Amino acid sequence: MSLLSMLDGQQGATPCSASGCTAAATHAVHWRNPRIHSIDRVKTWAACDEHRDTLAEWLRSRAFPVVVTRFGETVERVA
Ligand SMILES: [Zn+2]
Repeated sequence: MSLLSMLDGQQGATPCSASGCTAAATHAVHWRNPRIHSIDRVKTWAACDEHRDTLAEWLRSRAFPVVVTRFGETVERVA
């Protein structure tokens, strides 16, 4: 993929998942609720620079496993 096509692809940028935030996501926060999700289940939130830590900490405070990656990357599982 060329740099130009990557930039074009950002026109429909995914917004951050934080409530009320319209910034484009730059990170992906992958998580799972062990009480209701099986080990191979991965939920993913989009996060901007500002909310990446906020969202991850919210999940960690509930003892959910969390993995943060660059936006667009996927993970097999979070444990
Ligand atoms: Zn945000």
